[in-house]
Parts: sequence; C-alpha cells; structure tokens
Amino acid sequence: MSDISADALLKAAAQTLSSSSDTARLDAELLLCHVIGKPRTWLYTWGDQTIAEEARAAFATLIERRHTGEPVAYLIGEREFWGLTLETAPHTLIPRPDTELVVDTALARATRAEGQLLDLGTGTGAIALAFASERAGWQVIGADVVPEAVSLAQRNARRLGIANARFIESNWFTALPPTARFELIVSNPPYIAADDHHLNEGDVRFEPRSALVADDDGLADLRHLVDTAWQFLRPEGWLLLEHGWTQAEAVCAMLNECGYVQVESLTDLGQQPRVSLG
Ligand code: GLN
Repeated sequence: MSDISADALLKAAAQTLSSSSDTARLDAELLLCHVIGKPRTWLYTWGDQTIAEEARAAFATLIERRHTGEPVAYLIGEREFWGLTLETAPHTLIPRPDTELVVDTALARATRAEGQLLDLGTGTGAIALAFASERAGWQVIGADVVPEAVSLAQRNARRLGIANARFIESNWFTALPPTARFELIVSNPPYIAADDHHLNEGDVRFEPRSALVADDDGLADLRHLVDTAWQFLRPEGWLLLEHGWTQAEAVCAMLNECGYVQVESLTDLGQQPRVSLG
C-alpha cells in the first residue's frame, strides 16, 4: 500500500466527518494525535510524515465511531477544561466550556485566602479541580452519587497534583455531616427536561441521562439544591447553580422564595443566562 501522510489522512477524515460533526477537522486531529501519541502541534510541523499502517487502521476505526456520533472526549478518554486535561468516561458528563462560568463566578466570590467549597454532582471533578487549582488555601469537596465518577475525579486530582480537593460518594447532601458548613456551594446538576429534543442530537446521546435529565421540566434537582443548600452555607456564603438558558427566572424565583438574598443571573459565552446565585 502506498505511503499516506498525516495531512492526507486528516483531509480525508475531515471530509468523512463533515456530514456528522460541526468540528470535523478538529475531531480528526484530536483522534489522530491520540492514535500516534503526539500533541496537536506536531501535526503542523510534521504533517507530511507517513503514518504507519497499524496507526491508520486504528484511526479509521475511531473516525467510523465518531461518524456514528460518539463524542471525541469518550473516544480519546480526555477533555480540556480550564486549561486542565481531565480524564473522561461515559458514566460522567463531558465538561462544557460554558461551565467555566461557574468556576469564574466561584473564584470572584472567594475573596478570602481560605475557605471551603462544595461541588455537588462533580462528575469528572471539573469545577472542583479548576477552583482548587486557583485557590490553594481552600479546601474543596466534590460529591457525586455515581461511584465511578468519584474514582474518576480522584484520579484526575492525583494526575494533576491537586491536593486540596477530595471526593466523596453522596446523593447531593446525604453523606455530609449535618454540621458541615461551606462558604461556597456550587453545582452543575441535571436540568434538561425529559422531552427536550436536544437529548436525541449529537454527543449528548452518548452521555449519561442521569447527569442530564431532571423531572419537573428539568427543575426538580435545582429545586432540591435551593431548598437544602442554605442549611450547609455559612452566613454570607453563596449558592451558585448552572441551569438551562430558559430557567433563570424560575431558579431566581426559587432562590428568592427560599430567602436567599442578592439573587442574580449571569450570562455564558453565548450571552444566555446560565448561572444563578444567591
Ligand atoms: N449544558 C448541557 C447541555 O446542554 C447540560 C448540562 C446539564 O444538564 N447539567 O447539554
């Protein structure tokens, strides 16, 4: 078989993926780099290099799987969030760029050198680890009801050398002692309504429903968090919640009804209300 360069392989693969992915070229680059064990910058210098037949076969399999919709983050087992490389697996949600707004907001409220932050439904540990990496004096706890998520987040912490974050198995607040108190409680809970058509489109189809869908038009878990979190907040502490862009009003109403003050919503990269706090 004739020699095929990385450039030629990428071009053909991006063409194949163009009908199934909005990020065809990027997907192809990430998958090829994963197979050959090189960083993406390698491609820009060495794109004319021949790719061995074995690697070509492995790459073709991954392109095929991507073409049927499997997320790149699951195929290569990692995803960048807040400049950190996080291991990802199909029992956790893939960290989204929009969720960096939760981290930004938490950091802006963490004005003291020391404190305690609780991240509920931590998944890969994305929010907890990003925050912990920026606030060495804070103790961070990430909780998740899925045991595999807890071990995944622990592995991520270890690999990144982040020592001030630990992870526990807990169904929201259930594993916390009633006396536990935090300056900040944050969460990106499931908030999609069960009949939302987005659930049948793109990468979301491969993600765990339990991390995406909530009862009551997606509001059930948000309501539970609003109703319960205040008992675990220190005076002047903050609850920060990610939600869908149509849910800001409902979440702010819940926060106000429950007695939270200084309630407001903040907009994400797409200028949609995405995080509410009080
Ligand atoms: N923002 C995600 C999405 O639209 C959902 C995340 C979540 O349910 N917490 O796919």
